[in-house]
Amino acid sequence: MCFAVCGNATHHPINCIVPPHMLRVIALRGDEKMADMARSLLKQTEQLRQERQEQGHVTPPPPDQPTAAVARGGKRRSAAPGFTPDRRIHDGEHKAALPGKLVRAEGDDPTGNADVDNAYDGAGEVFSLYATQFNRNSLDGEGQSLIATVNHRRNYNNAFWDGRQMAYGNGDGKLFKTFIDLSVIAHEMTHGVVQHSGGLVYQDQSGALNESIADVFGAIAVQRHLGQDVDAADWIIGGGILGPDVKGVGLRSMKAPGTAYADELLGQDPQPFHMDNFLSTTDDNGGVHINSGIPNHAFYLYCQYLGGNSWEKPGQIWYRALQDLNNPLASFAEWCQQTVDAATAIHGMGSTEVIMLRRAWKLVGLPA
Ligand SMILES: [Zn+2]
Repeated sequence: MCFAVCGNATHHPINCIVPPHMLRVIALRGDEKMADMARSLLKQTEQLRQERQEQGHVTPPPPDQPTAAVARGGKRRSAAPGFTPDRRIHDGEHKAALPGKLVRAEGDDPTGNADVDNAYDGAGEVFSLYATQFNRNSLDGEGQSLIATVNHRRNYNNAFWDGRQMAYGNGDGKLFKTFIDLSVIAHEMTHGVVQHSGGLVYQDQSGALNESIADVFGAIAVQRHLGQDVDAADWIIGGGILGPDVKGVGLRSMKAPGTAYADELLGQDPQPFHMDNFLSTTDDNGGVHINSGIPNHAFYLYCQYLGGNSWEKPGQIWYRALQDLNNPLASFAEWCQQTVDAATAIHGMGSTEVIMLRRAWKLVGLPA
C-alpha cells in the first residue's frame, strides 16, 4: 500500500492523496473495469513501497537534468531571502518510470499543455506561500528543486509524494477527473516540508498529524491563492478532482469531517471530528487518512474563532509548532500542547489567541 511506512522513522513512505479505504470500496463495488483499476492501484503502490524498502529508502537524487535556465547559463536560485523556485515538470508519458521527460523547467514559457502548466503554476504558488509567509526556501528550507511528473501511468487514480518528488495521475475520467488541483499539490508538497521539519512517522497518531498538517497547508494554499478569508473558504481538500459520476464535494472536509462524499462507488467519508469517534484500526497505517479529521477540524474551529486569513495567525502558529516539534512520534495531545506553546510564544500567555486555541482543541476532545 502506498501508505505503508516500514515501522522505522528513517524510512520514507509514499504519501498518496487517495486513501486505501476508498480504493477498497471501489474494488468491491465498482464494475469490472473500475474494480480492476482499484486492485491494480493497491498493488502498484505496494510494489512502489517495496522497491523503496529494498533500496533501504536511500533515495539517490534523480539524474541531473540541467534545466533550460541552467543550460542557457541562467543563474541558480539564491538561498537568501528573495527565494526563487526551481521547478522541473516532467511528462511521465503514461509510464511508471519517474521522473520522465523534462518538459518545463524554471523560467520556461508555458507549454500550452494544461496539466504541465497547472502543475508548474501550482508548485510556484506553494513555493510562494512558504517563502513569503513562512520565510522558508522550498520544501527543505534550502532551495530544493520542485520536481513533479504529470501523466503518471495510465488512468492512474492517485497522486503522491515519494520523498523526493510529486507525481500526478490523470484519473480515469469517471471517479477522478484530474489530480492537478492546488489543494492536492500543496498537500503533497507539505509532506516534503514535514519530512524536512523533523518528520512525523507515518503511522497511527503521528501519521494522522502528518496527514492533517498536509491538509492544513493544502487549505491555506488554496485560500491564499483565492484571497479568501476563513468564512469564504470551503475547507475542502481535493475539491476539483472528483469525476462526473461521483456524489461528493471532494476527498475531505475540514469544516465537516465525514461529509465530503457519500457515494455508491467510493463509500462514505469515514472521518471523525471528535476524539469520541477516534478509529482504532490497523488499516491505512492506523487510520492516518481517517483520524486526521480530528486535528483538521480543530484547525478549522480555531480559524473560525479568530476570523481573518488562515495563513496569518493560525497558519503561523501551526508552522511554528511544526518547526519546534522535536518528536516524530508525537500524539494528538502532544501536538495540541505544541500548538499552545507556539501560540504562547507568539502572542503571550493569556492572550485571546491562546485561550481560543485551547477552546478549539477542547471542542474536538483534546486537553490543552
Ligand atoms: Zn497525504
